[in-house]
Amino acid sequence: MKKKALLLLVALCLQIFCLPIQQSFAQSSTDPVPTEILDSDVYFRRAVQRPVLKNYSSQVEALLRRMSVEEKVGQMTQLEIGQITSGGDSNIDIDPAKLEKAIVQYKVGSILNVNGHALPVDKWHQIIGAIQTSAHKTRLKIPVIYGIDSIHGANYVHGATLFPQEIGMAASWNPQLMQRAAEITAMETRAAAIPWSFSPVLDVGRQPLWARFWETFGEDPYLAKVMGVAFVRGLEGKNVADEISVASSLKHYVGYSFPLNGRDRTSAWIPENHLREYFLPTFDAAVKAGARTIMVNSAEINGVPGHINKFLLTDVLKGEMKFDGFVVTDWEDIKKLVTQWKVAPDEKEATRMAIMAGNDMSMVPNSYSFSDNLLELIKEKKVPMTRIDDAVRRILRVKFELGLFDNPMPNPSVKNNFGKPEYSQASLQAARETLTLLTNDANILPLAKNRKVLVTGPTSDSLIAMNNGWTWVWQGSEPSLYPTNKMTIQEAIKAKIGERNFEFRQGTRLTRPAGSPANTTPTMLDQEVDVREAVEEAKDSDVVILCLGEGSYTETPGNLTDLTLPETQLRFAEQIIAAGKPVILVLVEGRPRIFSRIADRVAGVLLAYNPSDMGGPAIADVLFGDYNPNGKLPFTYPRSPNNYMTYDHKLFETEDTNFGNIATRPQFDFGTGLSYTTFAYSDLVVTPKSSPMTGNVAVSVKVTNTGARAGKETAILYVRDEVALLAPAGKRVKRFAKIYLGPGQSRMLSFTLNRDDLTYIGQDNRPTVEAGDFTVMIGGLTDKFTLR
Ligand code: BGC
Repeated sequence: MKKKALLLLVALCLQIFCLPIQQSFAQSSTDPVPTEILDSDVYFRRAVQRPVLKNYSSQVEALLRRMSVEEKVGQMTQLEIGQITSGGDSNIDIDPAKLEKAIVQYKVGSILNVNGHALPVDKWHQIIGAIQTSAHKTRLKIPVIYGIDSIHGANYVHGATLFPQEIGMAASWNPQLMQRAAEITAMETRAAAIPWSFSPVLDVGRQPLWARFWETFGEDPYLAKVMGVAFVRGLEGKNVADEISVASSLKHYVGYSFPLNGRDRTSAWIPENHLREYFLPTFDAAVKAGARTIMVNSAEINGVPGHINKFLLTDVLKGEMKFDGFVVTDWEDIKKLVTQWKVAPDEKEATRMAIMAGNDMSMVPNSYSFSDNLLELIKEKKVPMTRIDDAVRRILRVKFELGLFDNPMPNPSVKNNFGKPEYSQASLQAARETLTLLTNDANILPLAKNRKVLVTGPTSDSLIAMNNGWTWVWQGSEPSLYPTNKMTIQEAIKAKIGERNFEFRQGTRLTRPAGSPANTTPTMLDQEVDVREAVEEAKDSDVVILCLGEGSYTETPGNLTDLTLPETQLRFAEQIIAAGKPVILVLVEGRPRIFSRIADRVAGVLLAYNPSDMGGPAIADVLFGDYNPNGKLPFTYPRSPNNYMTYDHKLFETEDTNFGNIATRPQFDFGTGLSYTTFAYSDLVVTPKSSPMTGNVAVSVKVTNTGARAGKETAILYVRDEVALLAPAGKRVKRFAKIYLGPGQSRMLSFTLNRDDLTYIGQDNRPTVEAGDFTVMIGGLTDKFTLR
């Protein structure tokens, strides 16, 4: 008896003392992608190194000399897949007559997209094989470059591994994870014989109403720049010719993400110094990293549509930044210069303006008018041959670099790179690292697995909401295309805690308007399903997991007029809260939908963004303590629709005024993100305290895990320029680190700030650095130094 009691005691002690330690190491050792980013700048400097590619100038020039004007114009033309196929969706097939017209008659150099929905690898090989066979029959046998939107995985290759959308990846503050996700995306895109992806989105997300906010890395230019370069490095690898890499397309150059009214493809006003300070750095860095193509902003800034902005396309991009890849227009944007922007009386003049501004390839995409117009313009000498040759040279160079001349036909062996089991482990890690715990009253989370739980709400049972747009179809809205072996939130929670303590009631659901076409219309409409039953179940539970948010949408169909969560959802939430049990709010959404009406009445808030296919298990892991959350908000979460501000606002904007006004603070600050352990920052040292303008400033700080669990922590280093000629921001992110610490473990972090970090773009649009005081902030500690 005594022996048994002793054994029990030992077992108990082991559980109490050893379990947290085992868990702590389990968390790091099971993660396939390393977390250690000791200094974002060290990662960045490595990732931004442009690979040295083979020089193809002599081949390009030799080919260019043999090309007719028609062949050159053909290279500058991009058509959508419907122009060479018949049927759509799964019934799509090459239409020989259409293919002949495009490739042989019009000598078209590029095709894009899907007609309807994603296609399996074999089908892609068949389609691309037919296109290249046709190109091979032309006089000069110039291969076609096929392009596709691989936005969060190879989302147009059916069955591909999907990753959290960019906004969530930003919340992970883990560029190595972003690079790995992009490597897998490239492998699975190339496995379908497609060598070119229209990603990443490098528009900085500073307008949360915008329907493509979730396609961005959030509001901070530095974080977006590091993550953007990671994406490019992952896609393009060491050599784009490798059949595991693809050419990237940085988009949408530039200023697209900042529409004043929040609606897609509408006007922005961004003075040049702000453009250079906030919107150009992501593109500039990715160009330095070697990005092979770039796509143009479909909207306008300062009254000039992106596609005719010669200053930005030619002077800044190709001149200053020395971009040597090619520029592709966005969808039908030359025509829209006439129909929408009204800057040209007809399409021919629009074509002249766009080509002379610096566009190299036109995403036409479904007519031959571009080719006809451009040929006439050349004959009339309204577009000089030098401009045409420059465009074609750029396109041919990328085709050579991609290895398309050497191996135009799909290589069957690349199919082996599709769907490897380790890819979904990376996707799970990514989903986990994106999840951001915003509140956790009285440490209600993690939940014990034996509590009686109700899971409810419109996003609780929806892979569509978890993935958002660019998933199998443009709007992500076709349920029949989603994998059947991936779990929604309610399914994953049920799998984790078992049926006994688990209840699920949908409550309300997101749907699409009745009668609307299945694969084009977003799922944004809220409908009540079984609200009364859900409320009754809530009363009967220990805790309610309430999943709210958004369905799927992108581009113009996702336009909103109010960031507030829909009334149907808020009303439902209030009824659930009134049942009197603690409510954990899980938000699955692509932009910060405002929920201040209920924010103080829920016990915990977990923001999931669009975590994709592994989001269900990842959310269940965090809620029930099998994973310690570590995401941090990459944007400022507003409290009310008309009081949005970014974290880099002026200091006084969140201070109470002497008029008795109480400042409105955001619902959650940029960088918010809780853990199940605690981290303490100490020993901040900034040296020297006084530095010459050209000198470096060293910053070091100690981070200690002071709690009982292992966890990952992102340290964000901010700098404030105390006084500057252009009213300075309260703080700007300059560096970050992400580390893994076991309980009681500490780590010293050290960073070096240089002159560029202390520079801002002045009124003369040039980098300016001023003598004076700077404050360094990290983990709640501050110190100062002076530049002299
Ligand atoms: C989008 C681009 C996309 C293109 C091709 C456009 O409507 O704005 O982001 O790459 O379509 O699908």
